[in-house]
Amino acid sequence: MVNVTVCVRFRPLSLSEKRLHGDSICIQALNTQSFTFKDEKEEDITFCFDRVFYQDSEQVDVYDFLAMPIIEGAVNAINGTIIAYGQQTGAGKTYSMEGLGVLDGDRNKKGLLPRVVDGIFEFLQSLVEMTKWTVKLSMVEIYMDKIRDLFDLSKDNIQIKENKCQGIFLLGATEIPITNSTEALQCLCHGIANRAVGETQMNLASSRSHCVYIFSVQQESRTNGSRSKTGKIVLVDLAGSEKADRTGAGGIVLEEAKSINKSLSALGNVINALTAGKVNHIPYRDSKLTRILQDALGGNSRTALLCCCSPSPSNVSESLSTLRFGARHL
Ligand code: ADP
Ligand code: MG
Repeated sequence: MVNVTVCVRFRPLSLSEKRLHGDSICIQALNTQSFTFKDEKEEDITFCFDRVFYQDSEQVDVYDFLAMPIIEGAVNAINGTIIAYGQQTGAGKTYSMEGLGVLDGDRNKKGLLPRVVDGIFEFLQSLVEMTKWTVKLSMVEIYMDKIRDLFDLSKDNIQIKENKCQGIFLLGATEIPITNSTEALQCLCHGIANRAVGETQMNLASSRSHCVYIFSVQQESRTNGSRSKTGKIVLVDLAGSEKADRTGAGGIVLEEAKSINKSLSALGNVINALTAGKVNHIPYRDSKLTRILQDALGGNSRTALLCCCSPSPSNVSESLSTLRFGARHL
């Protein structure tokens, strides 16, 4: 049985959307799982998901529903993945993943990452004293199907390997051991800052690369010498997939758009194959993104997809394509 939870989050209207269309929105909530969406032809389409977070949702709501079960799993050696998807730049992916201020700032605005960090350590501290645990963090970025280490920018072409003991791993990628939340948050901030440095050097926008955060939680019993067990939690802030635009300054160029679309459709195909109950041929090898996620997606692992959208009539076609991406996987 494949464990995929698909949720939708609508962010509040932005100022520019309000300027264009006032307070009007293209969705009407039915309940916490379904809503109607007015498309470009003014026709209503009803969508249904595992959970819908509307404009007034809080970061903690998303965490409780989506991330808690995944953390619980990882502490019990069940891998899990949380993916933020949204066709458009500005859909709310990074807000949901990082929130405002990973290290400081308004507690309520903190996104999934800092909450997952706290959650991991809370779970671990509640374990019996007989258990010894280690948590490690890696952070990489996938741009044009190349993997770059965000803790060491000189490692800009990391290879993905697999072996019996570790499963899928990133050869030579920095793994920082962390012992508490504060350390973890400092590492995250360091990686996020490095990402910005790389962006300036390479003239690329973070919205055009996938950012992958990997927490591995290893445990062994202090007493009976039993084998250690490891659970991974992978969080992914995906690149937007808007259409190539060569005219606008900073606009997405064709090669980037192709690469992003290829990896996103590979991800869609993998999730579809899994939810359709196929077990033999899951096309993980079609992109670096899906290959990294291989042992945290499928099998007995838990997957949560958060589809981020604007509720504005200005972005109907982008939101619709995001909703369709999510709806395929229910
Ligand atoms: P993306 O990562 O999809 O490109 P962002 O997460 O950067 O989009 O969001 C774009 C803008 O909207 C940011 O200024 C962000 O702070 C704001 N925003 C997104 N989602 C929310 C939300 N749920 N509540 C409040 N502000 C939000
Ligand atoms: Mg973003």
